[in-house]
Amino acid sequence: MHGVRPKKFLGQHFLKDQNIAQKIVNAISSIDSKDTILEIGPGTGVLTNYLIEKPFREVILIEIDRESIAYLRENIKAPNLRIIEGDFLKLPLEEIASDELSIIGNFPYNISSQIFFKVIEQRNQVKEVVCMIQKEVADRICSPHGNKTYGILSVLIGAFYEREMLFKVPPGVFIPPPKVNSAVIRLKRKTNMTLNCDEALFKKVVKQGFQNRRKTLRNALKPIILPAELTQESVFDKRAEQLSVDDFINLTQKIQHWEK
Ligand code: SAH
Repeated sequence: MHGVRPKKFLGQHFLKDQNIAQKIVNAISSIDSKDTILEIGPGTGVLTNYLIEKPFREVILIEIDRESIAYLRENIKAPNLRIIEGDFLKLPLEEIASDELSIIGNFPYNISSQIFFKVIEQRNQVKEVVCMIQKEVADRICSPHGNKTYGILSVLIGAFYEREMLFKVPPGVFIPPPKVNSAVIRLKRKTNMTLNCDEALFKKVVKQGFQNRRKTLRNALKPIILPAELTQESVFDKRAEQLSVDDFINLTQKIQHWEK
């Protein structure tokens, strides 16, 4: 047993099931000598031990917990391993690696949404993400439109990444067990990363649309102040959750067109 005491405020739940750890690492689709992998929150290295067996060019760990860092430095050694002590949310990716990378991790659940927002912002550098998160958040991310769980994260991530729910993980395989179920998801960046509309406006429309998800878009988007001729169109009779990612892009284009 390792001597790292799990700290609740850091969202530390250590995975003890080796089969699941291996399955998560094997879910990364691009593993070769050109690939860099970045692990967020390695803790005591249950995933790291499998990562260093793969032919990655570099395995980079970012961990905020000093005690885990000391444990990792002492116990896990590999020529292509780089260990960084710090807060993933505060470290600019381009300072960590100059090239593209993939991200893996059993994420600290309390900051998982913030991690995804950062990935979206830095998508030029992040080609893939395989991560374990709270099942409920995984459902929201992977949900198709027309579903109650479909929301802001589904659309914003779905605009740039293919979203896949891989498998569920019960609380009992962690020390200490979390109060929620977990799930592993994979995000693969789309080949075409350019959004065919204004990005800031797209985010505004998505966020505003879901803010009042039971209202029609005509009502939910009122704060954006749109001309009546435009909001007469039938798309405004719908609610945000009825629109696919492409529908949101088309809607943003229409609004843009009017604003010009
Ligand atoms: N990968 C390990 C630990 C998962 S728990 C395992 O599967 O057993 C989540 C880990 O994220 C903890 O080790 C915690 O210290 C770390 N962490 C929490 N906030 C972080 C942050 N902002 N940046 C980097 N690591 C963080």
